[in-house]
Amino acid sequence: MRVLVTGGAGYIGSVVAASLLREGHQVVVLDDLSTGHEDAVPKGAEFIQGTLRDDSRGALGRGIDAVVHFAAKSLVSESVARPGLYWDNNLGGTLALLDAMRIADVRRIVFSSTAAVYGDPVRVPIEETALTRPTSPYGASKLAVDTALAEYARLHGFGAVSLRYFNVAGAHQDPGGGWLGERHSPETHLIPNVLAVASRLRSISSGAAAAASSGSAAAAGPAAPGTDRPVQIYGDDYPTADGTCIRDYIHVTDLAAAHLRGLDASIPGMRRVYNLGSGAGISVREVIEMCASVTGVDIPARVAPRRPGDPAVLVASSARIQAELGWTARLDLRAMIADAWACSTAQPR
Ligand code: UDP
Repeated sequence: MRVLVTGGAGYIGSVVAASLLREGHQVVVLDDLSTGHEDAVPKGAEFIQGTLRDDSRGALGRGIDAVVHFAAKSLVSESVARPGLYWDNNLGGTLALLDAMRIADVRRIVFSSTAAVYGDPVRVPIEETALTRPTSPYGASKLAVDTALAEYARLHGFGAVSLRYFNVAGAHQDPGGGWLGERHSPETHLIPNVLAVASRLRSISSGAAAAASSGSAAAAGPAAPGTDRPVQIYGDDYPTADGTCIRDYIHVTDLAAAHLRGLDASIPGMRRVYNLGSGAGISVREVIEMCASVTGVDIPARVAPRRPGDPAVLVASSARIQAELGWTARLDLRAMIADAWACSTAQPR
């Protein structure tokens, strides 16, 4: 199959593009590089730098059979500050893509949706039938696309699969091209933030060790500003066992495998929705402990105020995708953190 991957220069998009290539598909990546990195586009993929609005048509004209759609803005706090930007990009950009698909008669699409469509859950684990009450413009814009896909399936015969991700983590080792991992700026996610603290502490201690062995205390130099910053735990007074928020983490490699299953399941006239998680709830403190265990660095943490809008517990039920598509998460938290750490300490690609 020849697949258009929009947003294929981003974290998840690049891993899915690499997985598609590995499975023998041809890949065209469309990305405006507003947040992606050209060097993340896997070798073997064709790359078009452009936007959904201006360039979907041209990209689809290259003999495309199906689309995997990631290109979007994805920061919750930015969406609260600039809702118009999110509606314009995430809904407006997608509608331009869908219409270009309709005109080009490309009707299969897998969409990168999110657990943020559910908002604060009434019940966990969260099933696909749960109420959708997003608490941010980001979640609302993704839900609007989920709805548009149902309409395009009903009215234009699209085969659409929406995958609602919980907390994606880890890095993917592409046999031909090295590591593909998270490179957000600013980085807001827990695991990269914790590993950044571990990495700073490790380089300080290796600098100090080098200075000690050369006999020069000055050789290590003063610690760079911010290097002594501990991990911030956003609230420890939630109604959970250790008081910190519980999330459902899923390895990006597992997530990519679900997209490949989704492509096979994109049947004309049907819009399907699947949650993607592991079903295991893990607290912020447990993540920090696992990072310490994987890195061997004693990682300092301090409790900070709650982050507005964070639900106490978000855990997926992935029973539907397991039953219907035979997908299940295989890689655990240790593997996610070990791979993220290996990626961050590897030579840049
Ligand atoms: N979190 C934290 N410190 C950080 C980053 C995140 O305590 O530096 C918490 C956050 O409040 C949430 C969990 O870790 O409870 C996961 O946050 P993340 O931003 O990784 O993903 P989200 O669940 O918001 O999509």
